[in-house]
Amino acid sequence: MPSCWLVSEDGSHKPIQLPHLEAVVLGRGPETKIKDKKCSREQVELKADHNKGNVMVKQLGVNPSCVDMAVIGKGNQVKMRTGQRLRMVNQLYPYIVRFKEDTSNQFSKDSCKASKRPHQQEDSVEEAAHGEVYRNKQPSPGHTVQDTTQHGHTDKGPGQYGGSSAAPPLKKPVNVEGGGHWNQGLKVSMQDPEMQIYKDDLVVVIKDKYPKARYHWLVLPWEAIPNLRALRPEHMDLLMHMQDVGQRMVRKCTANHLRFRLGYHAIPSMSHVHLHVISQDFDSPSLKNKKHWNSFTTDYFIESQKIITMLENNGKVAVKEGMAELLKLPLRCHVCQKEQATIPKLKEHLKGHLTV
Ligand code: AMP
Ligand code: ZN
Repeated sequence: MPSCWLVSEDGSHKPIQLPHLEAVVLGRGPETKIKDKKCSREQVELKADHNKGNVMVKQLGVNPSCVDMAVIGKGNQVKMRTGQRLRMVNQLYPYIVRFKEDTSNQFSKDSCKASKRPHQQEDSVEEAAHGEVYRNKQPSPGHTVQDTTQHGHTDKGPGQYGGSSAAPPLKKPVNVEGGGHWNQGLKVSMQDPEMQIYKDDLVVVIKDKYPKARYHWLVLPWEAIPNLRALRPEHMDLLMHMQDVGQRMVRKCTANHLRFRLGYHAIPSMSHVHLHVISQDFDSPSLKNKKHWNSFTTDYFIESQKIITMLENNGKVAVKEGMAELLKLPLRCHVCQKEQATIPKLKEHLKGHLTV
């Protein structure tokens, strides 16, 4: 009867035996020596099939576990075979599986020899803002910055302000990997290493999938905060950090002739608190209608600092009534205040304000 072992690629602990068709739950704890709080104590469930030579990996924790480059997603499972690599959480803690013919065989030193830990290096906000991933740079003080990659998206998405008014965020956890409601999309994107352009232990920055300007990023906390109403005084530091990360993205953006604003939508359409960091050119094909325009150029867009001040003074964030009405206002240029009849006319007009 063959045996199956989960081998830590960085050699941080002894191989863990995976008995035939028995569920083994692993995560943070003495067995794996993982101390990272991002890793749940029950991060993955592994079930080896010794006959078929594969291991079913189910993600139990909130933060992403991956097999090769694919995020499994909470509640989902994927089959892992010899030669594939499991990363326990957030692209860290690599494991491989080994099937051995004879249970009496012990692992030779070689089989679990520490291969070099895959780059657990640090990107900085600065580099993320340039739109590329660099290596070996200093993280912001006090924060662990992990390796990330990025790519852009220009696909059409579900109707962001495309007709109906903003949908309320869902409270129930959803399967964000698969059939989740469209307003849960940011939760999927923020966990997707391909979308992440910066991350530290508190926040992640992704490119907006349907950018409304040349530069449009979203800063999201790892903590599951559904919306502004859920903010509490203990989130002050987090909000300030989100703003700080956003400001650093702006400072380091190469397009330094552009003006940026950092803020929140009064009534967001997507669940999970997110700070918009957006250049004020609004030069983007994804900006398609009046709701898009007014959501960024009227009081519907609430400055990050205003939200912080509100939380500081009142211990909570309350959004004024009547905000949805702002989306119906006439199209008005945000630079010279001249009214424009249509979106194409507005876009033509905006060209006159662009310096490059
Ligand atoms: P709001 O909820 O109105 O503050 O804005 C949500 C933002 O998320 C919009 O600017 C969308 O373009 C963007 N967006 C929508 N779906 C996704 C997604 N799956 N990944 C990244 N950005 C998204
Ligand atoms: Zn103008």
